[in-house]
Amino acid sequence: MLSARVAAAVLSLAAVSVVPVVVAAPAGAASPVVTTREVLGTSVEGRPIVLVHRTTDATLAAAAAGEPTRTVLVIGSIHGDEQAGLRVIRRLRDRDRLPVGLDLWLIRTVNPDGTAHDVRTNAHGVDLNRNFPYLWHSSPRGATWSGKQPLSEPESVLLRDLVRRLQPDLTLVFHQPLFGVGASDKGMPMVRALAAGMRLPVDEFHCTGICYGTFTGWVNNRTPGLSVTVEFGHRVQPWRIGRAARTVVEVGLTGPLPT
Ligand SMILES: [Zn+2]
Repeated sequence: MLSARVAAAVLSLAAVSVVPVVVAAPAGAASPVVTTREVLGTSVEGRPIVLVHRTTDATLAAAAAGEPTRTVLVIGSIHGDEQAGLRVIRRLRDRDRLPVGLDLWLIRTVNPDGTAHDVRTNAHGVDLNRNFPYLWHSSPRGATWSGKQPLSEPESVLLRDLVRRLQPDLTLVFHQPLFGVGASDKGMPMVRALAAGMRLPVDEFHCTGICYGTFTGWVNNRTPGLSVTVEFGHRVQPWRIGRAARTVVEVGLTGPLPT
């Protein structure tokens, strides 16, 4: 059902103009969304890992004209038993409008086998968030097994390749249950803005010591972009999911990036 506000907007549009709103939308204004879907590859057990691109004609036109746009990549889950982020992705996929200037890329889960089995690791028993080639070290098999070598897993390789291809300005990864937004030497102003928007504290997640081989660490130390870890609690109320999705859009577009 259309909300009253959307219905009114549709009515006024029909009454005053036949010009597509995407052409007329000023920078920052909400604009209808163009969605494309791409299978990036498959997991160990053959499940597809799907990338969804959501943007607007006005954003594409702005980028083509050389105007600045923001590329934001959001990963709902990398640990299969941490699934609240999937709900944020659903909200972002369901939005029918996005602000001009935002180029939004969504992956529901980069660990679809872990998600299907509700376990942390991939189907080889590897913690994908310890399998990246920044401060990687060999660790014993178990919940945080780093794998036989960096990027030993197809899911990690696929994610590495995607970040190299998109060069996101901001990459967000959702986790549970540490309840906070991860501090980052690279981009504390953005971390603070995200934390304020999501009503979460800023926290330093120490991975019981140094964070070895994490995806976020690799992005922040080996690529130009900023990556931020967002940890929900054990149980996540619907209002917080909605607030997180809105923050991705609003702060993702306008929040302070490292220079
Ligand atoms: Zn996690």
